[in-house]
Amino acid sequence: MTIAVQSTLSPALVLNADFRPLSYYPLSLWSWQDAIKAVFLDRVTILAEYDRAVHSPSFSMRLPSVVCLKTYIRPSRHPAFTRFNVFLRDRFQCQYCGSPHDLTFDHVIPRSRGGLTTWENVITACSPCNLRKGGLMPKHAGMHPHQPAYQPTVHDLHNNGRLFPPNFLHESWLDYLYWDSELDPE
Ligand SMILES: [Zn+2]
Repeated sequence: MTIAVQSTLSPALVLNADFRPLSYYPLSLWSWQDAIKAVFLDRVTILAEYDRAVHSPSFSMRLPSVVCLKTYIRPSRHPAFTRFNVFLRDRFQCQYCGSPHDLTFDHVIPRSRGGLTTWENVITACSPCNLRKGGLMPKHAGMHPHQPAYQPTVHDLHNNGRLFPPNFLHESWLDYLYWDSELDPE
């Protein structure tokens, strides 16, 4: 499992004014067009560049690979409730049997019993488990999730995200992405 990033688009990693990524999930990336626009609007500082450059008759510029906002944006404490983030919270494993294959979602309290589509009631499940549980309550199905469904913090997802790195990480991004990872004692 890797997170798809299209390297051919030369995306710029966007950092907040404190030099941390604006967002981890999804990773804050801008197209090179948006990054250059922000440079000209004086909203960002360029911290690193690609070798690739764009040219016009009057100027030439290397594409930014890391930019930093000039104004701090207060990050949201809670990540967005998305399919990807539910999988990431559950480490891409069925919460009933542990399988990493054929994943879908299960409402712990079934929708037919009034269960809501929220962080607290949706978990990662493989299709066979999902089918087996059907519209039953956990007690009646005899199926209980390994961990209760919960609303994760950005920190929780960041920890899990290290297990599933993006498929493309420009070398200039590494200093900013894993700044808090443990240092190798050598
Ligand atoms: Zn399963």
